[in-house]
Amino acid sequence: MPVGTNSAQTSARGPELLGKRALVTGAASGIGAAVARRLAAAGAQVIAVDRAADAVEALAAEIDAEARVVDLVDPDAAAPLGERADIVVNNAGLQHVAPIHQFPTDVFSTMLRVMVESPFRIVRTALPGMYTRGWGRIINISSVHGLRASPFKSAYVTAKHAIEGLSKTIALEGAAHGVTSNCVCPGYVRTPLVERQVAEQAELHRVPEDQVVEDVLLARTPIKRLVEPTEVAELALWLCGPATASITGASFPMDGGWAAN
Ligand code: NAD
Repeated sequence: MPVGTNSAQTSARGPELLGKRALVTGAASGIGAAVARRLAAAGAQVIAVDRAADAVEALAAEIDAEARVVDLVDPDAAAPLGERADIVVNNAGLQHVAPIHQFPTDVFSTMLRVMVESPFRIVRTALPGMYTRGWGRIINISSVHGLRASPFKSAYVTAKHAIEGLSKTIALEGAAHGVTSNCVCPGYVRTPLVERQVAEQAELHRVPEDQVVEDVLLARTPIKRLVEPTEVAELALWLCGPATASITGASFPMDGGWAAN
């Protein structure tokens, strides 16, 4: 197999999640769609959440899931989503690239609500049921930006560092109740979120768009390829499985070695 390609083999089934209800936010696109597909394939009953109605309904129809059209900028609307969830995958997110002194204040607030406050409200609602049933899995799709900063991404870096702290706190409180909480920290994943950034970064760094991926996005990444959404989904599934009951409060870089720098 050529260097740089993904040689990992995917098991046909993975951990058996029959009877588990898995809430996946931001399920209409990218990583969320891949996670929703993978958990459904492992037998989970998936509740797919997104503000993009047509796309989340199409995804739900494809994997026989329940679609919930919710704008997570409203934490009050997000809170009820956690009811009866056995697995919560906090994935919905957005990016905005601008220097701090020009960063729109309303965008900063929106990003914190979607990526921190709504996950908190969903988990707050989900935990009592998980505690009663003695089992629960919280998986937070953080980022290498939960562990490292980059210029021009103040809201994103702030939000991702915050979800890392929330995840560790959930881990401490949930430990006695069979609930684990972990973060997945991808580098650049081949999704629409990254494709949008390429154009913005090209302008900020004054390089042609076709050089942005290698010279800008992957400048600190030893493995010069984008992560695929299906790779993130496999890690999320593994964190739901029986082999990981003692793994909690942890953060898993899937970043081609970026965080090793
Ligand atoms: P994406 O843009 O492909 O998908 C994000 C989804 O979230 C979309 O379907 C969007 O509609 C939904 N969403 C955004 N705001 C919402 C809101 N207010 N209410 C409801 N839904 C909303 O992005 P992606 O790359 O798949 O990113 C998913 C997660 O992974 C994000 O939290 C992101 O920060 C994280 N992540 C992505 C990368 C990457 O390189 N793509 C790297 C590290 C972490």
